[in-house]
Amino acid sequence: MLRRILQTISLIRRQPRLLSFREAGHEEEAGSVCPDLLRHQFLVSEQRFRALLESLPKVAVQGYDRNRRVIYWNKASTRLYGYTPEEAQGRLLEELIIPAPMREGVIQAHRDWIEQGNEIPSDEIELRHRSGELVPVFSHHVMLNEYTDEPLMFCVDVDLSDQKRAHRELDFANRYDRLTHLLNRHSLEEQLNLALLECRRQSGSLVLVHLDVDHFIDINEALGYDQGDLLLVELATRLNRDRRATDIASRVSGDEFIIAFSGIHDLDDIPRLVRKVEDVMRAPFVLQERYCKLSACLGIAIFPDNGETASELIRNADVAKNRAKLAGQGQVVYFNQQLHDDLLHQHRLSDRLERAVEAGELVLHYQPQVSAISGRIEHLEALLRWIPAEGPPVSPAEFIPLAERSELIHRIGDWVLENACRQRAEWRTAGLKLGRIDINFSGRQVKRTGVFDHFEACVERHGLGPRDIGIELTENVLIEADDDILAGLRRLHHRGFRIAIDDFGTGYSSLSYLKHFPVTALKIDRTFVRDAPNQPGDRAIMEATVFIGHRLGLEVVAEGVENREQLALVREMRCDLVQGFYFFRPMAAADIERLLADMVGGSRDFSS
Ligand code: C2E
Ligand code: MG
Ligand code: MG
Repeated sequence: MLRRILQTISLIRRQPRLLSFREAGHEEEAGSVCPDLLRHQFLVSEQRFRALLESLPKVAVQGYDRNRRVIYWNKASTRLYGYTPEEAQGRLLEELIIPAPMREGVIQAHRDWIEQGNEIPSDEIELRHRSGELVPVFSHHVMLNEYTDEPLMFCVDVDLSDQKRAHRELDFANRYDRLTHLLNRHSLEEQLNLALLECRRQSGSLVLVHLDVDHFIDINEALGYDQGDLLLVELATRLNRDRRATDIASRVSGDEFIIAFSGIHDLDDIPRLVRKVEDVMRAPFVLQERYCKLSACLGIAIFPDNGETASELIRNADVAKNRAKLAGQGQVVYFNQQLHDDLLHQHRLSDRLERAVEAGELVLHYQPQVSAISGRIEHLEALLRWIPAEGPPVSPAEFIPLAERSELIHRIGDWVLENACRQRAEWRTAGLKLGRIDINFSGRQVKRTGVFDHFEACVERHGLGPRDIGIELTENVLIEADDDILAGLRRLHHRGFRIAIDDFGTGYSSLSYLKHFPVTALKIDRTFVRDAPNQPGDRAIMEATVFIGHRLGLEVVAEGVENREQLALVREMRCDLVQGFYFFRPMAAADIERLLADMVGGSRDFSS
């Protein structure tokens, strides 16, 4: 459209003597040939031209005389600059729409054009609306009657407000998070690098805090995504509150935010800034008109100690945040290199463990549990071993927690169950005199739906029953168990399966809850057995545990008995079973077979 107007105007420009505007008072003679006809043609042409200019809603056209006074002002100009043609008529260009700082320049450029023929180039500029606001326009200029005493300058301005707005919106969408209007991840990195430049210049520090809301997924699932969104917006508002201009707040993914405080000159300020972020979570959130208490884990990385660049700092704060998540809800972890190396090591180990299951690198070892009185081998505990084809064996204390962080624990758990049952059935067929094999279950394993049905089905499939296979769980697993898990355990208990609380005394250690759980045995943690001979406190706790255990009808096992003194003590305390290196270390199935075959009646006298 603009092109067409400019073409029209240039056409007129090439025939300056054929057109005039009445407003400018230029009705010219066009030679001697039939002046009436020519005048008529002028008028028709002028009307057409006017009609065209008036009909363009977005193209503002203004005409100015030699002294830059308005001689023409179309409707679009009124729309763009706010003045009616009557108001604009006769007023100076620079007074009407030229912002003060540009005035001198415009006057000079106009003069240069009419005096020296230097055209004013087309340009994107901002002109002034009647209200004082600036209007972005693309402005093109045309001079008519250029070489006469009455030059007329026409300005053709196209309103760029819509484009500029669209541009701004696009820019906003590219830089900011749509929901919370905080910076997004991409622009966080940009801003952070700028902040780091400034920190370097001033030899200051910067602290980066990665915040991850605990159990946000539960809110989404329980209350719906709308409520989840509300929560994120509220959180963003809180993070933005009393934020200094140099602080950076951004949302980097679903429920994760990064906040950066720069220009720190005293490292003692860092804990205070971290507390500021922690405080954001302290006040309850209102969701569906109910107060809701939430927590978040924080990972912290500090410039320059924990990284030189934005991406390095972001990655390290993320590492610290992941470590905080592992430690539980509402935890705060500061990054250090050891953390990073540990994580890398675990990552590699995790990869190897994944392959270990298929590669047949897992084996079960068995540790006998012997009768404290007779010394006879009663039962075995199955203990998993990972013996990689390359490299040293890895302790279950290291790889079980690792497997727990992924679905891998279920594959491993299934493998243990299957192999322990197969082994127990094999030994029964071989006629070995033996009680149960007890299997360890970790927290994540018992949370799997139908875990105990699966357990029972496997036991039955191998032709075994409650006298052959038992389970061990830690106190914390029981405390955190939900109703489904407890119902499953009660069913097993009811059917006569042995359920032992492992490492008793290291978890919540509340004796009173014992009566609530469907358990049949207590395994006193080896730290008590180790310390009791010399520590009256540990001894007292152990005695009380054995006493209450027996009063509740539970079997009591002493773990980790390593020497004669400890054995004497646990016997004196009347523990029922003893497990420990003093008797047997965990050993391969073949060694168990040899051991049982060697022993007359499966027992050995340890009293001497
Ligand atoms: P746990 O169930 O408490 O197993 C007893 C641990 O104590 C075993 O360590 C065993 O070798 C060790 N132990 C036994 N007697 C003595 C002793 O006299 N002195 C000392 N210092 N240690 C003794 P292990 O085999 O390294 O297993 C560590 C933990 O890994 C187990 O603790 C258990 O929680 C877990 N685990 C082992 N196998 C499995 C499994 O198949 N599934 C699951 N979920 N966890 C397992
Ligand atoms: Mg155990
Ligand atoms: Mg134990």
